[in-house]
Amino acid sequence: MVLTGGCYCGSLAYEVTPPLGPVVNCHCAFCRRIHGAAFTTAAVMPAEAFVWTPSSACPSTFETPLGNVRHFCAACASPIWNYAPYIETGVLIVGSLAQEFQPAPWLHVNTESMSPSFAIADALPRFSQWPDEATLRALCDQHPGAWVPEPLFQRSG
Ligand SMILES: [Zn+2]
Ligand SMILES: [Zn+2]
Repeated sequence: MVLTGGCYCGSLAYEVTPPLGPVVNCHCAFCRRIHGAAFTTAAVMPAEAFVWTPSSACPSTFETPLGNVRHFCAACASPIWNYAPYIETGVLIVGSLAQEFQPAPWLHVNTESMSPSFAIADALPRFSQWPDEATLRALCDQHPGAWVPEPLFQRSG
C-alpha cells in the first residue's frame, strides 16, 4: 500500500511506495540543528520510491556538506526527504508521513553527539555512530520485508 505525506501547510504532498529500509533515530548535531529537535526519525528508501503528487508545489532544496539534497517546504519549513545522489538513495523524514509515527524506528545512531538534556527511554539498539555493515545487515534480517540498501547507507546528514 502506498504511503502518503506532506508538509504542515499542505503545499507539498507526496507518495512513497514501500518497502522502506532501516529506520533510525539520528542524534547527530546536523539533524538536531536542522530539525530543531533532540533527534530525527528517518527511513532509508530507494530514491525511486518517492514521487511528488501532481498537485504538490515545488519543494525548496538545500545541499548539505555531504552532498545530500534536502527537500523541504518554502512556506512552512517542514522537512520531507533527503536525496543522496552518489548512492541514489533517499531518506524519508518519518514525521512527514500522514501515517504519523509509522514506520517505527529500529535503532538509535550517532548517540555520541546526543543532546545532554535528552535520555533514551526505549530498548532499541544504540550506536555511537552508524553501525558497521555487518551489524546493519543483521538488523535488516530482523525486519523481514524491509528494503536493504546496497551499498548499505552510512550517513544521514
Ligand atoms: Zn508547507
Ligand atoms: Zn543525523
